[in-house]
Amino acid sequence: MTNPAHHTIEGAVAEPRARLPLPDTVTLGNIRWSYLAPIAVVHLLALLAVMPWLFSWTGLIVMVVGVHLFGQGINLCYHRLLGHRSFTVPLWFERFLVIVALCCMEDTPVKWVATHRFHHKHSDDPHDPHSPLVAFLWAHVGWLLFENPAVHSVDTYRKYASDLLKDPFYLKLEKSYLWVWVYVAHAALYFLAGAVCGALIGGTAVSAVQFGLSLLVWGVFVRTVVVWHITWSVNSLTHVFGYTSYQTGENSRNNWLVALLAVGEGWHNNHHYDPASASVQHRWWEIDITYYHIWLLERLGLARAVVPPKRVRRAARKLEPVARDE
Ligand SMILES: [Zn+2]
Ligand SMILES: [Zn+2]
Repeated sequence: MTNPAHHTIEGAVAEPRARLPLPDTVTLGNIRWSYLAPIAVVHLLALLAVMPWLFSWTGLIVMVVGVHLFGQGINLCYHRLLGHRSFTVPLWFERFLVIVALCCMEDTPVKWVATHRFHHKHSDDPHDPHSPLVAFLWAHVGWLLFENPAVHSVDTYRKYASDLLKDPFYLKLEKSYLWVWVYVAHAALYFLAGAVCGALIGGTAVSAVQFGLSLLVWGVFVRTVVVWHITWSVNSLTHVFGYTSYQTGENSRNNWLVALLAVGEGWHNNHHYDPASASVQHRWWEIDITYYHIWLLERLGLARAVVPPKRVRRAARKLEPVARDE
């Protein structure tokens, strides 16, 4: 029996939903300095990119390529692999992907996954950690900056990410500052690689520092900020602007701009309709590059148990008794 709330209504416009108040567990005076400070500092460091002395075409290209590669740490690893278990990979590769994700400074796997699963359970209801029905900026970044004990608590992490907490590696990331050192170490590597190249090309200490700083500012700080805003846009823009293909009981939308920037994640109404599926591409033109990466990993033997779309799962279930009878 199909859930009536999930009937496909092609091209349907979702019912406009009422605005929501700030969750009653949030006190605006209670700022999360451990989030506000790094978010503000990295934004300020990224602003150094306006200095012509720090510009290099290599830095710009490294930034653009980095947005895509490191962004996969969030889309492919945090979201689809860990958040929804849409496929599996060998443990060593999962660890590698998590390290890539940590270079985006978007929280630890347990916190990211728990908050995201919380969002799926309470999308656009008064408990949603980041509904734009409260305010657009609240969904985009505000929810990260203020204490909300209902969301940012050990109990919530245990409830929504108990599977991850059983893994000693993820537990260690919760109990140490390893995730900070991963970010710092990768930033240092960018600077060092740039400095070595700058010294070889320019032959002076100044050229070494200049090129090193160019890669650091563009390749790390600007890229971090761009990836943040792309991820945050999935929380804000795709619950406000776009079209709906399914009545999912909340305000999720398919937004082509976010889909383009977040390489697939913007088909958010499709995703809310079928969160388990590894792919969010429901029409030929709803390009989902993140899924193409999963497809490629599957061909390479690195991704297994890739969850197919709901219609394929249903068809397989219908065939099941027949197969058993044979
Ligand atoms: Zn959503
Ligand atoms: Zn999701």
